[in-house]
Amino acid sequence: MSLLNLTIAGAAQALAAKKFSAVELTTAHNNAIAALNPRLNAYITVTPELALEQAKAADARIAAGTAGPLTGIPLAIKDLFCTAGVRTTAASKILEPFVPPYESTVTRQLLEAGTVCLGKANLDEFAMGSSNITSGYGPVENPWKRNGSDAKLVPGGSSGGSAAAVAARLALGATGTDTGGSIRQPASFTGLAGIKPTYGRCSRYGIVAFASSLDQAGPMARTVEDCAILLGAMSGFDTHDSTSAERAVPDFTAALSRGVKGLRIGIPAEYRMDGMSAEIAALWEKGILLLREQGAEIIDISLPHTKYGLAVYYIVAPAEASSNLARYDGVRFGKRVDGEDLIDMYERTRAAGFGAEVKRRIMIGTYVLSHGYYDAYYLKAQKVRNLILRDFNNAFDKVDAILTPTAPSAAFGLGEKMDDPVTMYLNDVFTVPASLAGVPAMSVPAGLSAEGLPLGLQVIGKHFDEETVFAVSAALERAAGFTALPSVRAE
Ligand code: GLN
Repeated sequence: MSLLNLTIAGAAQALAAKKFSAVELTTAHNNAIAALNPRLNAYITVTPELALEQAKAADARIAAGTAGPLTGIPLAIKDLFCTAGVRTTAASKILEPFVPPYESTVTRQLLEAGTVCLGKANLDEFAMGSSNITSGYGPVENPWKRNGSDAKLVPGGSSGGSAAAVAARLALGATGTDTGGSIRQPASFTGLAGIKPTYGRCSRYGIVAFASSLDQAGPMARTVEDCAILLGAMSGFDTHDSTSAERAVPDFTAALSRGVKGLRIGIPAEYRMDGMSAEIAALWEKGILLLREQGAEIIDISLPHTKYGLAVYYIVAPAEASSNLARYDGVRFGKRVDGEDLIDMYERTRAAGFGAEVKRRIMIGTYVLSHGYYDAYYLKAQKVRNLILRDFNNAFDKVDAILTPTAPSAAFGLGEKMDDPVTMYLNDVFTVPASLAGVPAMSVPAGLSAEGLPLGLQVIGKHFDEETVFAVSAALERAAGFTALPSVRAE
């Protein structure tokens, strides 16, 4: 029996039935990482000894009969979550030596549930990007290949290391974070399920901040059910995060079998953009058909401010990033490059520590927040953000969930879309509106491109109604029957 090709739900059952131990499961993953990570670069830091210790503790819990559904499950943790005693880089050189003294709330809750941390997954630097090429620790290779080609493709971003690790069988699941699409787009590029929950569902405490009004943690896994199990453990109110919501966490797995009969599914006209590829349009049609066949009512809706989504996002996100990243000054955290005086030290540290994309965003953010431009850009963007939220609220008067494609294309080649940053930003066109509105959204693998690459559909729900998102996503997953596997994977 392969210990690598399991779902989380399946592994938990097998562990409970003593078919194998948590130590055996973790050892199989440690070995797979040792063999394949040098090629894929999905992990920045691996923690095999820590993982074994945690696996031993999990076996003790299983023996004592106190195990839960995640006890002994090996995970990849995006290297944006602070992990006590384990280096946390945010894929930036400026945090290369940073070992956090404390654990993020999300990872603490996962550890309390008995999960095993295999290592810290690669990402775009400070989660800024859509392809993992902005990482200060090298790009990640997507384990999927185009038919008949060995060309390296990107795994998407920013949670590209998490995505590649799970797709290549180097972890059973992973944590990601999503500010404008960073869970959903890499899930789509690697044939995984991934959900960005409602803003406030998961605590942001201990997650390296990118854009605080948008950042949300969420799970990435091989099935919708696995995501529901993980999200249950990751969610909940936290006094350490003033924006975390004081809401009961439902049993998300209970929603999976609800089906879509009688549900109203909205299809937003504005997502049918000029130049949408025929392949993506066909995938969307297929998703609509599958849901209709299962008894959903399909309703045309309008989200009229969608066209401003990217422009608003690329003002708000850099503005918040420029403020959040001011703390990396060589004094408090991570790297320091000495200079002639204090200012010189700041400048040298930040010049050496940040990569080009991060510097670009700090400059854009500082510009839109500066006196004289604040009203014209930042304040205006906040107003339009509110209109985008209102679009969703109006739509949700008429429908229970919304179906769209996740990304405008399949995974692209390493080195493509790099001529100018705006081309890269277009990747986020379908994902940023849900981020700006704070509503939950999930990507589900729904088909293959003509070149044999996975394509995802996105299900968007009402605030704090992840259960409907899971119900629709699980129904889509069952109907689409996606079983293809990436060609580069551990066996
Ligand atoms: N690709 C988007 C960006 O570059 C989203 C990133 C994210 O969600 N962290 O900002």
